[in-house]
Amino acid sequence: MHDETKLVHSGRHPEQFEGAVNPPVFHASTILSPTLEDWERKAEDRAKEVPGTYYGRTGTPTTRSLEEALAALEGAHRCVVFPSGLAACTGALLAYLAAGDHVLLSDSVYGPTRHAAMRLLKRYGVEASFYDPCIGAGIAELMRPNTKAVYVESPGSLTFEVQDVPAIAEVAHRHGAVVIMDNTWGTPLYFKAFDHGVDVSIQAATKYVVGHSDAMLGTVSCTREAWPKLKATHYDLGQTAGPDDIYLAQRGLRTMAVRLKQHWETGVILAEWIARQPEVETVLHPALPGDRGHALWKRDFKGACGLFGVVLKPSVSDRAFRAFINGLELYGLGASWGGYESLIMPFDPRPQRTATRWPYQGLCFRIHAGLEHPDDLIADLQAGFERMRRG
Ligand SMILES: *Cc1c(COP(=O)(O)O)cnc(C)c1O
Repeated sequence: MHDETKLVHSGRHPEQFEGAVNPPVFHASTILSPTLEDWERKAEDRAKEVPGTYYGRTGTPTTRSLEEALAALEGAHRCVVFPSGLAACTGALLAYLAAGDHVLLSDSVYGPTRHAAMRLLKRYGVEASFYDPCIGAGIAELMRPNTKAVYVESPGSLTFEVQDVPAIAEVAHRHGAVVIMDNTWGTPLYFKAFDHGVDVSIQAATKYVVGHSDAMLGTVSCTREAWPKLKATHYDLGQTAGPDDIYLAQRGLRTMAVRLKQHWETGVILAEWIARQPEVETVLHPALPGDRGHALWKRDFKGACGLFGVVLKPSVSDRAFRAFINGLELYGLGASWGGYESLIMPFDPRPQRTATRWPYQGLCFRIHAGLEHPDDLIADLQAGFERMRRG
């Protein structure tokens, strides 16, 4: 089955819900058993991992619907839902690491994931170190006897380096380490994590799965071998997400393929237009032929989302930059992304780098291409660049 078909059909069970197209929202903490025998059977099912509902925290049919659909889409054994993308990132790390272990994370990892590795994991005796996202098979030199996990994120947050995930996974597996990937940019549609050697795939579902900027959610999907640890940690942490938010995510999921196609197309149009402006040093977008990650993107990805970065020339002053950003009418100034609307955000990767040096001097911004008409988005940028020139 193609992904578009899976998106429409997986995880839905109209026959169980009076024929309703969408699985309903179950608001439930206590789940009652009619008899002691039923109670005992549910306990046995749980031990045998038969999907069912025993207590609201471990999920209801609403939760199962989203988990099932995402696992099918990713080609994973199972999937669990977390209440935010970051909870999914830290939950995945906690699942595979213990005191005395070492974990390698990409230097371009999502900032809050870096903090969790340096603060939270450290308190539990796990040592985190960071590697150049472009290291590829060279990561072999950084593997230690106690390296139990390698964390990849491709392209990287803010700086968009594409990683050679299969090469990294090959080395990690040779050392017995698990490969955890934050696959939020690629989405399960445009990067097939499990075909590229990943064992555990994370989605900040807040972004394109929800897709409408109205709920926070994370998911972690994994292979059969990686499942017992993920399941146990998810349970021990008591992670559960609200049914209304899960409903919004499974609703967003149904249209993700058509939305993404437009985000991709508009993103490339904007990136190419921006790259032609004389004030621009470089555009960080793996789908552009001149991008340093383009060859790997072409080899491993099936598409691009609407998120990319821009580095301005050092000659653009702070004042000119402010004039550019502050007058924009269609781009919201905001940190999350993946909704239907366009966004802009300034960024400075330097404070979040320890393994590599950021090579640029100029001011930077990140754009999320929304579903507005590209001509209107370009006109808004055009006016912005004119303000920048005057500023
Ligand atoms: C936004 C984001 C997260 C965190 O998701 P939240 O739902 O905001 O917690 C994790 N990883 C990446 C790459 C993100 O962009």
